[in-house]
Amino acid sequence: MLKINPNYKRLKESYLFSEIARRVAEYSGEHPEETIIRMGIGDVSLPLCPAVIEEMQTAVREMGQAETFHGYGPEQGYDFLRRGILGYYGEFGVELEADEIFVSDGAKSDLGNILDLFSAENRVFIPDPVYPVYVDTNIMDGREVVFLPARQENGFLPMPPADTAPADIIYLCSPNNPTGAVYSREQLETWVDYAKSHHSLILFDAAYEAFISDDSPRSIYEIQGAKECAIEFCSFSKTAGFTGTRCGYTVVPKALQFDGAQLNHMWLRRQTTKFNGVSYVVQRAAMGVFTPEGRRQTKENIAYYKQNAKCMTDTLDKLGIWYTGGKNSPYVWLRCPDDMDSWKFFDLLLRQIQVVGTPGEGFGACGEGYFRFSAFSSRADTEEAMDRLYRLFK
Ligand code: PLP
Repeated sequence: MLKINPNYKRLKESYLFSEIARRVAEYSGEHPEETIIRMGIGDVSLPLCPAVIEEMQTAVREMGQAETFHGYGPEQGYDFLRRGILGYYGEFGVELEADEIFVSDGAKSDLGNILDLFSAENRVFIPDPVYPVYVDTNIMDGREVVFLPARQENGFLPMPPADTAPADIIYLCSPNNPTGAVYSREQLETWVDYAKSHHSLILFDAAYEAFISDDSPRSIYEIQGAKECAIEFCSFSKTAGFTGTRCGYTVVPKALQFDGAQLNHMWLRRQTTKFNGVSYVVQRAAMGVFTPEGRRQTKENIAYYKQNAKCMTDTLDKLGIWYTGGKNSPYVWLRCPDDMDSWKFFDLLLRQIQVVGTPGEGFGACGEGYFRFSAFSSRADTEEAMDRLYRLFK
């Protein structure tokens, strides 16, 4: 008789976004006349920029001509895109080799798939609150997860715990989803020293690095020694609006040696066995991000979202509501006023001002009492939502 993976029974229902949808549908059913503004989603609203579309259209035309048609491509990604990524890293002083970069269909797949390389016996540190995929992918494999509390007192940036046995795998997400908090250079140095001294591996999620505008590190490899202890995940989703187009990349340095194996070699073996690469058209589109025009246009889009974030933080400043994030991140993380819990605040906003955000509790127990607004909506919706919020709390 077939036996299933029993770990799936240990997964909690993916309750957050379905519960939000349920409450919004219930309210809309009762009040069809009201216009609801969605400030909770992590999806982008601006279309792909012209430089990306131009590359994509050229690639589509090439696919229709025998002389320029592309069949299976290299599993690790086309050289032109890997060189583009190398050049990008070079801008913040990180030197990588082309075969340390693996192009994929997005960071989510790679974050899950990378766990193929590691034993289920490893112990894992995961910040709380954080992007829920880290927890669920480890539960699916049956790994022991230890949560590192991210609270107002530590700036939502957990550091190595002194009172807990070390972990083999450590997740860091900077800028963080959902809190928008960003690790400083010194904090990342502490994590790299910790990982090296305990022979642990850091899985560094840099999906929001393009939102950093001060001198905070954009890549873990800006920290000396990180190539010996960290894998980095990145994505064109939020940098360039590829949430529906799907393209990302993972950096696995050749210096990563664990348990007698080179992780770069293992990941290549895994990818060439289970993955047939990202489509040529999409990789050309991603290459468009690195053209001078593409760089300028994607920066403009990021500036647009950051202006939305500023509209939100200005409103919260005026209201005296505590928040973090929004400066180097598309997320603003606020403390629910009057000590309300996250879902009570959610219901209040939905019912009083028809604005939908994301309850912090949905990202982990330490998110209780906090709330996430996303800057990815349109300017008009952001302004309208903040106007309504201001009138409610002033
Ligand atoms: N990492 C974080 C922290 C995210 O918030 C997201 C998407 O919301 C991802 C990774 C996944 O990105 P992708 O669209 O490349 O799969």
